[in-house]
Amino acid sequence: MNSDCLFCRIIAGEIPADVVSETEHTIAFRDINPQAEVHILVVPRLHEPDIASLAAADADVTIALLAETRRVAEAESGGQYRLVFNTGEAAGQMVFHVHGHVLGGQIHDRLPS
Ligand code: 5GP
Ligand code: ZN
Repeated sequence: MNSDCLFCRIIAGEIPADVVSETEHTIAFRDINPQAEVHILVVPRLHEPDIASLAAADADVTIALLAETRRVAEAESGGQYRLVFNTGEAAGQMVFHVHGHVLGGQIHDRLPS
């Protein structure tokens, strides 16, 4: 728990969120500013700043995060979705507690392809 971290405070129940699922290692909640019809953030309880740090720090939690991301995406978006882990400020990351964005249904933007 990092008391300066927004997502640690959501995990601790200090800040309300529209929670979709909770597991031993993860919590998933709807993004406050959705960029798609379905926009859910899947977050490990463990505070690590980004997906690369998490993968280096704890393989079990990384696997649990990806497994829960898949389960949430199947349940909420029929298994068709975009999964985004912004990593670093230059890539658009604003909250430095790792989170996967599950974007499904009508998506408001397009990434370069
Ligand atoms: P990032 O840019 O760090 O990858 O994404 C952070 C996401 O967190 C953004 O999509 C933003 O809308 C979302 N967000 C920021 N503050 C809150 C909040 O208080 N509650 C929820 N549910 N989402 C938030
Ligand atoms: Zn945190």
